[in-house]
Amino acid sequence: MQILLATGNEHKLEEVRGILAPEGIGVLSLSDLQLDLPEPEEDAADFIGNARIKARAYAAASGHRCLADDSGLSVDALDGAPGVRSARYAGIGDTRAQRDAANNDKLLEALQEVPPDLRTARFVCCMCLCDPDGTIIAESEGLFEGRITTAPRGRNGFGYDPLLELPDGRTSAQLDPEEKNRLSHRAQATLAMAARLRSV
Ligand code: IMP
Repeated sequence: MQILLATGNEHKLEEVRGILAPEGIGVLSLSDLQLDLPEPEEDAADFIGNARIKARAYAAASGHRCLADDSGLSVDALDGAPGVRSARYAGIGDTRAQRDAANNDKLLEALQEVPPDLRTARFVCCMCLCDPDGTIIAESEGLFEGRITTAPRGRNGFGYDPLLELPDGRTSAQLDPEEKNRLSHRAQATLAMAARLRSV
């Protein structure tokens, strides 16, 4: 099986390829197909809704079976926020580094009064695989559980990585990239997708 991965992110592409290749699933990128398709508006209320919007749009536009993902941070004390708004939670910053820093500051402020045992949170990744005619072939979800720290720690990763403390006491930004790629919500969602495709 050959599928298109709806991302321009080379890093995601390598991660997903590494997990699906042993399953006999080839993963093409938008640049492999030399496709420069307009990005659909991701305006769903949840991660799987946005993954479906992307998978449907890119499958229909490319004529290929397409895998799309959507991810973000869900904090229990904030009823799941920042959720689908994770990338633009603070709504300021011109560069990704500036946006990440503003998002992290806003999150720490929102949780200022929340004690350690109520700071539970997780990264969530939802995936949807869709055919060009709009048929959904499979969906999956992966979680990366932790707790929000009171100050950022670690230099690796991106986004909220410096704020998610894992059960072993390190933050996600203190993992080396290979370890994070093995454990992350995206890896879990991709593994679950592979398992689902084996049984389809
Ligand atoms: P996307 O699905 O790659 O667009 O991610 C949406 C947003 O969720 C990112 O901009 C980050 O703010 C957050 N996010 C998703 N995955 C991670 C992660 O692995 N580490 C830190 N932040 C993440």
